[in-house]
Amino acid sequence: MRRKLVIGNWKMNGCKAANSILLSGIAAGFKTGKADSAVCVPAPYLAQCEAELAGTPLAWGGQDVSAYAAGAYTGEVAAAMLLDFGSKYVIVGHSERRAYHGESNEQVAQKALAAVNAGLVPVVCVGETLAQREAGQTVLTVCKQLQAVLDVLGTAALGKIVLAYEPVWAIGTGKTATPAMAQEVHALLRKQVAERNAAAAAGMQILYGGSMKPENAKELLAQPDIDGGLIGGAALKAADFLAIIDAA
Ligand code: PEP
Repeated sequence: MRRKLVIGNWKMNGCKAANSILLSGIAAGFKTGKADSAVCVPAPYLAQCEAELAGTPLAWGGQDVSAYAAGAYTGEVAAAMLLDFGSKYVIVGHSERRAYHGESNEQVAQKALAAVNAGLVPVVCVGETLAQREAGQTVLTVCKQLQAVLDVLGTAALGKIVLAYEPVWAIGTGKTATPAMAQEVHALLRKQVAERNAAAAAGMQILYGGSMKPENAKELLAQPDIDGGLIGGAALKAADFLAIIDAA
């Protein structure tokens, strides 16, 4: 039985004062139960998460990581640095990084590898754009994105990652994949991992992301292959984030 996992992606939002209110609100309302939860915050606020969430059941992490371990890579953040601040997770391959920073499938795979090698859990994002969906290329797109990661990670490492299916057209738009649409892709992704490592596939948490809100979370999270959510906008309000965790 896979545990549910709900991760908040704060994107480039927050300030120390507001973060404190949000983190304490989430920590105060979080009920230890079926679901685990974490927040992925802008790198400067990892120290704040460490200070304010240590000792709570909540985990935290980054939103991106360098593929390199250390060195002359100005502006980059190494996996070991995320770990140094107590991070458990790091998002890799978010569609905003792919779209605005030109990250290729291969670069995303190298980032996932760097995270695993350092002892972080990469939350590997895949998803199709609206144009790709309308052209009937959803399966091709997400399978290619996942395949690049499978090709780089060793078979054993597949047990150390989380996947997130995030249809690009659903992110921040208020449009969400129907539970059936999301389930179909999740099942396909699990099958693809199973071809490499059946045990890892059976245990792998595959999150759905894309305008998940308290109103639609229950139905999405009831699908057999949807193991949690990667939450953007709704993760910025403690009550909404907690309601999604409760639905899991
Ligand atoms: C995201 O950014 O990963 C995301 C799913 O955003 P939203 O929930 O706002 O669509």
